[in-house]
Amino acid sequence: MATTIEIAPASAPFVEKTPLERYVAPEKPSLIGLSRAQLATLLGTIGVPESQRKMRVQQLWHWIYFRGFTEFDAMTSVSKELRAGLAQRFTLERPEVVAEQVSVDGTRKWLLRLPGEVQGERPHEVECVYIPDTERGTLCVSSQVGCTLTCSFCHTGTQRLVRNLTAEEIVGQVMVARDRLGDWQRKSGSPDLRNLNPNSGKPEFGATRPTDGVIPTGDRCVTNIVMMGMGEPLYNLDAVRDALLIVADGDGLAISKRRITLSTSGVVPNIERAGAEIGCMLAVSLHAVRDELRNELVPLNRKYGIAQLLEACRNYPGLSNAKRITFEYVMLKGINDSIDDAKALVRLLKGIPAKINLIPFNPWPGTKYECSDWEQIEKFSQVVFDAGYASPVRTPRGRDILAACGQLKSATEKLSARERMALRAMAMVE
Ligand code: SAH
Ligand code: SF4
Repeated sequence: MATTIEIAPASAPFVEKTPLERYVAPEKPSLIGLSRAQLATLLGTIGVPESQRKMRVQQLWHWIYFRGFTEFDAMTSVSKELRAGLAQRFTLERPEVVAEQVSVDGTRKWLLRLPGEVQGERPHEVECVYIPDTERGTLCVSSQVGCTLTCSFCHTGTQRLVRNLTAEEIVGQVMVARDRLGDWQRKSGSPDLRNLNPNSGKPEFGATRPTDGVIPTGDRCVTNIVMMGMGEPLYNLDAVRDALLIVADGDGLAISKRRITLSTSGVVPNIERAGAEIGCMLAVSLHAVRDELRNELVPLNRKYGIAQLLEACRNYPGLSNAKRITFEYVMLKGINDSIDDAKALVRLLKGIPAKINLIPFNPWPGTKYECSDWEQIEKFSQVVFDAGYASPVRTPRGRDILAACGQLKSATEKLSARERMALRAMAMVE
């Protein structure tokens, strides 16, 4: 069945949802997500002399981010007095895991519960997805609850509830993944402690190392981060920046900036800032080669058109053949998948060190789009390949647990049982 969509006139104004929900801090705050400087200031407030602060921060950083400890009391290099003082006022809590699902392909999805607007009232929920492969393990991290943007092919965009995540909650997603996968660093020379709770020394309940074919080579599970979960990271740039700088810190979580990719739908003014202030890899959700169509698929295009977006990409710092921008292109049947589109795409990207990532559309209940036929994706991919681009087609992962791109939508707005069944049925049809 042919899909028809109405193209909004290019002059239509860009409208986005207003973020409504505020974050309410818990009574006893967690130290997760504080920068070294913030941690030092905080130590000052509880009486640690200035001359000691740097050393104490270094110690705490190691226990928190390198070893993954969740209790101050077990941090043996820190003085007993300071441990007690910290435990009295702070925690090392991560977001609460309310559900874990494991896909037949090894993909894991965690549903995390976060504080809502009013203490004691309905909490917020966000999803985080781990995608293991032979050479890497990629964690797909969310930046917002929902999204203020309304891309017409994206399920997250239909969620009404929106709030920015804090740096703590963004770093917390990485900590949760390491906890659940038993992925903290072991002590050198000691037995493999990765399945053990660092505090109790006992096996972590429910934490399981992936096995057989789903564990990346090397000794770490989480090797790469993609900011491609729920939300638009460049609309929450300060928190995303603070979080990613912690994630990239070589003495802690130590995931290098070359292995962190931030995906944006095209918030042009913040692309430059992301380059200067974070310096991670950039992915741009392009999806169309003409403004008229992109206005419909990614309504933000009405504010920042394709030419402006590509200019910002050209100026992204440090681009080279080794450091390219990834252009994401979702394959929508009869909408953006013609051979002419493919040719226009390679013309458009000429001169930008680029990779092109073709994403088969992941359907969701109520969507008006269909995924392009496989033969069409192959033909499209061939044009891109012939123009000199490696054009990997992203294999949909975790479809059976609704963890694939664009399928994330927090349970706060629960799907009806019927919608869920429909979605599963669609996901199973390749
Ligand atoms: N907001 C950011 C990052 C999150 S979306 C952005 O838009 O880039 C991550 C990627 O998934 C984006 O490229 C987005 O366009 C794509 N996506 C969204 N819905 C999808 C769907 N239903 N099927 C396939 N990809 C989808
Ligand atoms: Fe938001 Fe990205 Fe989905 Fe667009 S594709 S609605 S920017 S999460």
